[in-house]
Amino acid sequence: MSKSKKTPIKEQQLICLQGLVQGIGFRPFVYRLAKKYQQQGYVANTPSGVNIVIQGLPEQQKHFLEDLQTKHPSLADIQKLSIEIQACSDFKGFHIQRSQTEGQASAFILPDISPCPDCIKELFNPNSRFYRYPFISCSLCGPRYSIMRQRTYDRNHTSMANFPPCPDCLKEYQNPENRRFHAQTIACEKCGPQLSLYTSEHATLYKEQALQKAIQQLHQGKIVAIKAVGGFQLLVDASNSAAVERLRIKKQRPEKPFALLVENLIEVQKIAHTSIQTERILTSYASPIVLLPSKNSKIIANSITKNNGLLGIMLPSSPLHQLISYGFGKPLVATSGNRSQEPLCYDETQALDKLSDIADSFLIHNRAIIHPLDDSIIRPINQKNTLLRRARGYTPLPIALKESTTPILATGGQMKNTLAISLNSQVILSQHIGDLNSIANQQRRQQVETNLLQFYDIQPAKIICDLHPDYHSTQRALQSSLPIQAVQHHQAHIFSCMAEHQLSPPVFGFAWDGTGLGTDQQLWGGECLAINKNEIQRHAYFYPFPLVGGDKAAQEPRRSALGLLYALQDDQLFTSDNSNLLQNFSETELYLLRQSLNKKLNAPLSSSVGRLFDGIACLLNLCPVNQYEGQAALLLEQAAHQANNTQSYAFNIIPDKPLIIDWRPMLSAILKDIPLLSKNLIAAKFHNTLAEMLLNIAQRQNTSTIVLSGGCFQNAYLTELCSKKLESAGFSVYTHEKIPPNDGGLALGQLYAATLTG
Ligand code: ZN
Ligand code: ZN
Ligand code: FE
Repeated sequence: MSKSKKTPIKEQQLICLQGLVQGIGFRPFVYRLAKKYQQQGYVANTPSGVNIVIQGLPEQQKHFLEDLQTKHPSLADIQKLSIEIQACSDFKGFHIQRSQTEGQASAFILPDISPCPDCIKELFNPNSRFYRYPFISCSLCGPRYSIMRQRTYDRNHTSMANFPPCPDCLKEYQNPENRRFHAQTIACEKCGPQLSLYTSEHATLYKEQALQKAIQQLHQGKIVAIKAVGGFQLLVDASNSAAVERLRIKKQRPEKPFALLVENLIEVQKIAHTSIQTERILTSYASPIVLLPSKNSKIIANSITKNNGLLGIMLPSSPLHQLISYGFGKPLVATSGNRSQEPLCYDETQALDKLSDIADSFLIHNRAIIHPLDDSIIRPINQKNTLLRRARGYTPLPIALKESTTPILATGGQMKNTLAISLNSQVILSQHIGDLNSIANQQRRQQVETNLLQFYDIQPAKIICDLHPDYHSTQRALQSSLPIQAVQHHQAHIFSCMAEHQLSPPVFGFAWDGTGLGTDQQLWGGECLAINKNEIQRHAYFYPFPLVGGDKAAQEPRRSALGLLYALQDDQLFTSDNSNLLQNFSETELYLLRQSLNKKLNAPLSSSVGRLFDGIACLLNLCPVNQYEGQAALLLEQAAHQANNTQSYAFNIIPDKPLIIDWRPMLSAILKDIPLLSKNLIAAKFHNTLAEMLLNIAQRQNTSTIVLSGGCFQNAYLTELCSKKLESAGFSVYTHEKIPPNDGGLALGQLYAATLTG
């Protein structure tokens, strides 16, 4: 008996994907798979990801599903996949559908993507119709978040909506075999955005002429403002000392190092030391600024970094940057287009208004930037590419929580402000906004908050802020009518690192930092915190010393040095031989500061490790007054790196509750060492002692999971040594990578703390 062959029965499946699946050629990829495995149906972007309906033979569907998960575009990240069997509908072929805009909000919006190798090739290929077109892109690269007005990633939701594609572009957009199939930003010379150049001579040039003139001006040492991906940048010839100095004066930036735009890796290697790890991040799609050890090459002017040994370098983050850096042929300074203490300019009107006395010309274009984004900054710390400033290329990638939460808004800190919102089980951390001391930055903060809530369509049920009542971010939270919760600054630091690694209590955290308000209303900053499920305990802290002048101490390490000596010698500091330090003050200053210390007026006690670093740096004559934030600590770290030494100083643990780390024996020894040993050696011994203190405290408690957070852990020497010591002693150590260890991570920490404790 022979069995009759059954007619194969078609099946229909609905596949719902969540994760990073929009804006990277995912739908075209699905389309090609459907063709390959003879499936009918459709693929569509939804606010929560991508939906696919396939109808065809079950055997083929199995292959389809396999390829879907293993062969997708490399930037994609499928975090959730569900399948539902459906009744068969009547399909003709397979289609890419228009976006569905209703439904649950998706947290997955892509950041801006630097030009891919194929686009760079075409940019410089005279036979391509995209030859030298500064806005070339494809389905794998180009701007994303910076140009999105609303979710989902479709052309009409971006500032490309004003540029209807020409027939040639439309043809590529519609051709499934083309690498620009469904590329939302496809545009060419004929139909897309165009360059123009405004010069101080009031002449306006366009397109290639504008570009050539801008490059010519850079060769002449002029300052050119360009409309980059997330906002304006100021460019100047990095080899021209006079030009760099002129930019420093105009930007009121006497010493802070400038970042460089460099054409490619080969050119980077001529001026800085790289490794496989740093080369990978330099060439990543995010094109961040990476801090690398300088080779002190003659190619760039000394005034780029002054006496700082680290060079901030980025590769071109857009085709326009490619054309400029290739055309110029040498490294360029590329610094944020803003006035001192003001936010980044991101439209022409603003830039012409704010930057006209800084820049000699403006290279602009007519594609609007919707979300202003600074360049991100990365420093290799502890074998990780750690973000110190998180913006272009990273915002708004979500941070996943283990569990879903109600919508929460966290307002962050005062310095390096960012804010965070939660969306089910994801957190969106805003781009770096900056210090909230100026009204202009406060307004930008408000704008970012409004945009973020609108963009993700969120009505927060709760608002979280710092404990400090004077922070602008706290005041803003207090003005809202929402239920409010304050999270202590250093607890938030530890929670930010916990959120990054999805850690739950119990953990033991070291929050070593500048200053933040403690739960006892004192200034904290050298905290060792036991984070347990139901309580957070201050397990240990650094012996407090007076910060004379309060906040002024952050800018003036000489004040911290004075406070340290006062804690050791009391009023005798002014009569003993401390000329080394006292020479940094005028007589009137000394008179006033002495009064202030003795009467305990405007000299709050603080346990800050950041200020301890400052004070020691000043005693070593490295930096009595900071020219930029963190300068003293950075110079002290760089001195330590030079020494290559493992010795440390004695210290004492006062068996109080909480424990007190008494650094005074170390300070006495340092004072004795100053006339005898090199600065580098003392700096190394100081760092080594801090790591010993940390290990000592870690071993006096029972939790094996250790978290390191706070501004001091931007220090690579300290972070690496602490991790090494802890790991050798059997602890599991967690440090930052995707979230800044500094106050840029506070909002995430506040939000995470609220989900665990609120
Ligand atoms: Zn491309
Ligand atoms: Zn076109
Ligand atoms: Fe902090």
